[in-house]
Amino acid sequence: MNILIVEDERNLADAIVRIVNDASYNAEAVYDGRSGLRAALSGTYDAMILDIMLPGMDGREVVREMRRHGVSIPVLLLTARTSTAAKVEGLDAGADDYMTKPFEADELLARLRALTRRRGDVLLEQATFADITLDLSTHDLSCNDESVHLSGKEFEVMRILMTSSTRVVSKHDLLGRVWGDTDASENSVEAYVSFLRKKLSHIGSKVQITTLRMLGYRLEVLGE
Ligand code: CA
Repeated sequence: MNILIVEDERNLADAIVRIVNDASYNAEAVYDGRSGLRAALSGTYDAMILDIMLPGMDGREVVREMRRHGVSIPVLLLTARTSTAAKVEGLDAGADDYMTKPFEADELLARLRALTRRRGDVLLEQATFADITLDLSTHDLSCNDESVHLSGKEFEVMRILMTSSTRVVSKHDLLGRVWGDTDASENSVEAYVSFLRKKLSHIGSKVQITTLRMLGYRLEVLGE
């Protein structure tokens, strides 16, 4: 299980990485808010330990932005003892739990276990990108008043593309994340992208799935 740690105090960040790795998770740290958001949006993490006070973009903004992009992984906020208001705002922004600094390794691991057990319970209603909205419970993709239902795999592919915003997602990555260990090939990815293109055009969206030769796919907005 991959755990993302976002903490600007390097000593603390490195200590958390050690604690989490020793408990057989796979932890990686970044040291500022924007890098944290970028990593969260990459879709490679299962949970996140996020400091509130960060340079560039604070923890609350990071949670709000990742939730807005449909990233539903559990988030444990780290707060200073005095910042009750920040704690409340952080939870309101979409974090799942918080822990006050300083803390014991055991407490951190207990909370992490609780959060990762609850994985999947964080209910986000929708992801949005430009003029489209993806309903994460009904799997309906809509643009203005038009909407279309996505099949299971179409939904997974679309959710990953929308979560990645305008960043390139490789066919290999989509294959691994949507099809897992099956013997599906990149042809399957191409087929589903083509279904999704038809559906995007059917609902009249300006969003296009652009192919970048040898690299993969990304979303673009027509006319921008
Ligand atoms: Ca800090």
